[in-house]
Amino acid sequence: MILNGQKSIQTLKLSNMNKFLTYFVFFSLLYVSCASAQVVLIDPGHGGEDCGAMAYQKYKKQKKVQVICEKDIALIIAKKVQKYLRPDFNAYLTRTIDSTVGLEKRANMADKIRADIFISIHLNSSKMKNGQGYETFYLSNHNDKAVKKIEQVENKNAKGEQAIINKILADLVIDRVAPQSKRLATLLHKEISKNIKKKYKLTDRGIKPALFYVLALSKRPSVLLEAGFVSNEREIKKILNNDFQNKYALAVANGIRRYFKKNKGFPFF
Ligand SMILES: [Zn+2]
Repeated sequence: MILNGQKSIQTLKLSNMNKFLTYFVFFSLLYVSCASAQVVLIDPGHGGEDCGAMAYQKYKKQKKVQVICEKDIALIIAKKVQKYLRPDFNAYLTRTIDSTVGLEKRANMADKIRADIFISIHLNSSKMKNGQGYETFYLSNHNDKAVKKIEQVENKNAKGEQAIINKILADLVIDRVAPQSKRLATLLHKEISKNIKKKYKLTDRGIKPALFYVLALSKRPSVLLEAGFVSNEREIKKILNNDFQNKYALAVANGIRRYFKKNKGFPFF
């Protein structure tokens, strides 16, 4: 009986040990997978009532004119970026359909899902018909007049008192996230140049600091991409090309991958 008792105590100890090991392995794996799955929030600019930059595509043969909205192209590219990121990251969109979403709501989403980074996708427009090229903005203070014009366009949904509050918030946030934002912008821009500059003969307008409220309000390392000019007749044809959109989106995803490789360790938030 004593022997049997000892055996059963030993069996009990072993089964407890097995249980402990099983739980230990399970929770370790869970921790590793949670810690390594970074969260990316992709923001297709504008949407719903807000078309963003507008252009007209003429089809001479069919005698047709098609209205092109920045919001639609931004959504297509954003979805492609999400697709390329999905196997390794938790990638979310601020809007998945053509809907009106305020700048604050977009930024609040970053808090809700505890995003590590925020990527806003846009397309440029200019009264000068030959305005062309792609550029990458990161959140920072600056005094560049040309950049201020673009800010006015992209910030136009933040008005009055809210705009002042946003400005204060932006100042507080910038110091904290500017270095990472610049690093992220540099990596994304390099990949974009590699994928589309030569093939599509596009002008590289460079990496610039800017104060976009949607970036500041997101309160994390963030970048705003202007993929090209919808107002340029030659450029819009390239932008509407499925292969261009794939290559651009893949470049963004690759840039994000490289950013996280270089920023290993605990997540920013
Ligand atoms: Zn825009």
